[in-house]
Amino acid sequence: MKKIVILTGAGISAESGLKTFRDSDGLWEGYNIEDVATPEAWLRNPELVQDFYNMRRKAVLEARPNAAHYALASLEQKYDVTIITQNIDDLHERAGSTNVIHLHGIITRSQSSQNPSLTYPVEGWEIKMDEVCELGSPLRAHVVWFGEAVPMIDPAARICSKAELFILVGSSLAVYPAAGLVNYVPASVPKYIIDPKIPYIDQNRTFIKIEEKATVGVPVLVSELMN
Ligand code: NAD
Repeated sequence: MKKIVILTGAGISAESGLKTFRDSDGLWEGYNIEDVATPEAWLRNPELVQDFYNMRRKAVLEARPNAAHYALASLEQKYDVTIITQNIDDLHERAGSTNVIHLHGIITRSQSSQNPSLTYPVEGWEIKMDEVCELGSPLRAHVVWFGEAVPMIDPAARICSKAELFILVGSSLAVYPAAGLVNYVPASVPKYIIDPKIPYIDQNRTFIKIEEKATVGVPVLVSELMN
């Protein structure tokens, strides 16, 4: 089966009601990222950071996958599909995709604040401040903060280098190292980008640009690929 690699960003979940990041002037749901999405923020004000991610988790649990998530899941009937997502929501999985790499973690799990490889499912929407991991350290959201290592980046780069068709959906390509993954896709491979505001791509590699919202552009491309 032909290998399709799809890199998704916050834009694919926008029409499920989860706000993107750059669209709101560098703020995330009204917060500066330095105040909620860095190790320093956690040291300074853990309650604020915990509350912020508890709210994001609540929103994710209330959201539903949209037509773009479902269309990508249907590609598995004909292709060997890997989705590499920057998103911390689980909408790809809930739409039926079975091979999803979360570069930046997943909000439905918690993580030890001492050892990031210790993760646990979150019961309900809230991690409470007195919850601890098996080492006795407080639990935080299982997400990669700015300034933290991205453990899945090497496997993701290897997968991109083996792609036979590549699709980018809903990412500003402003967050590294994720944005650099497009450079691992071989030059000869057909590449598509779906975004209502196509981001600048720093390379001569030709992307076929579909300047549409995800729920419009993705199902059209998928139906072409399924024919
Ligand atoms: P970004 O917010 O920086 O960029 C969003 C991109 O999506 C933009 O290019 C925008 O034009 C596009 N977009 C907006 N509406 C769209 C639509 N309806 N259909 C298709 N595209 C649309 O997102 P990013 O590049 O993923 O980087 C943001 C970082 O913040 C990520 O690392 C991610 O972890 C995090 N984040 C995650 C979520 C989520 O999990 N749903 C939401 C916000 C932020």
